[in-house]
Amino acid sequence: MNSLLVVGSLAYDTVETSNGKFDNLLGGSATYFSAAASFFSPVHVVGVIGDDFKEEDLEFFKKRNVDFSGVEKESGETFRWSGRYSHDFSSRETLFTHLNVFEHFDPKIPESLRKTPFVFLANIGPQLQLNVLNQIDQPKFVALDTMNYWIDRSIDSLEDVISRVDGLIINDEEAKQLTGKTNLVTAMLSLQQMGPKVIIVKKGEHGVMMRMNDEFFFLPAFPVDKIEDPTGAGDTFAGGYMGYLAYSDHLSELAHRNAVVFGSALASYCVEGIGPKKLKSISKDDVYHRYRTFQKLTHFEFTEKNVEH
Ligand code: AMP
Repeated sequence: MNSLLVVGSLAYDTVETSNGKFDNLLGGSATYFSAAASFFSPVHVVGVIGDDFKEEDLEFFKKRNVDFSGVEKESGETFRWSGRYSHDFSSRETLFTHLNVFEHFDPKIPESLRKTPFVFLANIGPQLQLNVLNQIDQPKFVALDTMNYWIDRSIDSLEDVISRVDGLIINDEEAKQLTGKTNLVTAMLSLQQMGPKVIIVKKGEHGVMMRMNDEFFFLPAFPVDKIEDPTGAGDTFAGGYMGYLAYSDHLSELAHRNAVVFGSALASYCVEGIGPKKLKSISKDDVYHRYRTFQKLTHFEFTEKNVEH
């Protein structure tokens, strides 16, 4: 079975919502990514933790078959991030970012992981993402995530790394900012011209759009009636998407469509719990259940009788 490599943050988060304040939640892009991807494929993480990283959290990764041999342990505190959501979760304010041991993170891919076929470059500096690309050997599929912070500060190296990956996963605002286009469709076409075969734009509660080859694919978000905490939903989506691709070992358009559905199913579970709590409690059957519900949700066909023309 194909395995996956993710390079990203491992963190302790403090999240504030209208339901209260939740401290020291296991977080970080690599955490959410691997919690989702590990339903489908073995995952290797490259990242850094401090000496305060809890034994029970290491146990969680172990239980999910997530390999931490590429995670460095430094003396000092693990990366900490805090955010506060508006009442309806439509916006988020960052309260603090304490880089701690993450400040001098310079990812070193162990020799044994350099041939990992599927690679996800989570949201870290584009120069670091380039360093990772230079260390890996003939991957089958590499995707990356980025954010407005890097679009504002490191556009040249960001364009460079985008031109070298197969897939770009980005949110709608960032897609527009990066291309200078106000129309999302035009923005996606411009992004594809920058290099990646596959462009995936996350639109939060409005779902996800994919452009692959000459086709668009659109999937709504799963209808969730009670959001608890949207932190990590994007990385969870990426984990489900990449995990399924690695498992299926197909890079066809149909495989990518299925991967988008599994990513969306997992992201919908992510937002239903505080931190990664819900992702820890669900089973693979639950994930497949949502996949099938998505099929029903988006199914329609022509019925001669009911349609007047
Ligand atoms: P998301 O909700 O998809 O933006 O992901 C939130 C996760 O990203 C949290 O668990 C944070 O620990 C992590 N995070 C926040 N800021 C950064 C940053 N500057 N670099 C890396 N990870 C971050």
